[in-house]
Amino acid sequence: MGRVSGKVALVTGAALGIGKATALLLAREGAKVVIADLKEEEGHAAVAEVEAAGGEALFVSLNVTQEEDWKKAIEAITAKFGGLDIAVNNAGILYNGSVEETSLADWRRVQSVNLDGVFLGTRYAVEAMKPRGAGSIINLSSIEGLIGDPTLAAYNASKGGVRLFTKSAALHCARAGYRIRVNSIHPGYIWTPMVQGFTSATPDQVAARQKLIDLHPLGHLGEPDDIAYGILFLASDESKFMTGSELVIDGGYTA
Ligand code: NAD
Repeated sequence: MGRVSGKVALVTGAALGIGKATALLLAREGAKVVIADLKEEEGHAAVAEVEAAGGEALFVSLNVTQEEDWKKAIEAITAKFGGLDIAVNNAGILYNGSVEETSLADWRRVQSVNLDGVFLGTRYAVEAMKPRGAGSIINLSSIEGLIGDPTLAAYNASKGGVRLFTKSAALHCARAGYRIRVNSIHPGYIWTPMVQGFTSATPDQVAARQKLIDLHPLGHLGEPDDIAYGILFLASDESKFMTGSELVIDGGYTA
């Protein structure tokens, strides 16, 4: 018996990185997983990995910023699996820039994916979960949603927004008697394509990676599975008394 046996779990941004590790882990623990992403080739490859391990998976092409895509995704999930129990709003983008360096267009692009995407994902997940009478929604914030960074103006704002939006949605669902829990996850720096993209190419970038490592008292960056296991806990009934909570998994970064 897996920890989420028989549940239907949607993970956005599941073609790569933390989202992919989460989808594979939820599938290993018995869930039917929906891999939702812009990246079709990598998304289908993730589905094939789940199936090769004996699990069930569906790829849906989803841009989290587009409401029409959400409507179609929920229709496809309901048609294939009959409903939704777990939603992981993981898709996100990083933008490096201080308040002086960030254009309005870049600001809006970041808020659109990181904040509008989580809002739409939560709204559509609640609607899909209500007929089941229960559910768990997990929103990806960051340590950058807890503390400020002068070089991450738009990203800080978006991840701080995810943190408090999650609490608002959690309180609403609890007070409405839906038995739908909503929690946020706050990773430190995790070795995924997002972080590899600015810490691998040049000697300066490799030096920047060492600086990032030094900010984590445990002495290394996290791995995608370190976050996936936290998500699994919040997805499962083991966390049934948790809602509106913040799970920080950061190697001691914010301690
Ligand atoms: P990643 O860049 O490695 O992967 C992100 C995935 O999201 C990709 O598959 C991408 O195609 C998808 N995606 C991007 N925009 C999308 C959109 N509009 N619609 C649908 N899919 C989209 O990222 P990651 O490092 O795995 O990060 C996952 C989440 O965790 C993000 O929300 C990120 O902000 C957060 N996070 C990451 C770290 C880290 O250090 N990696 C730390 C804290 C928080």
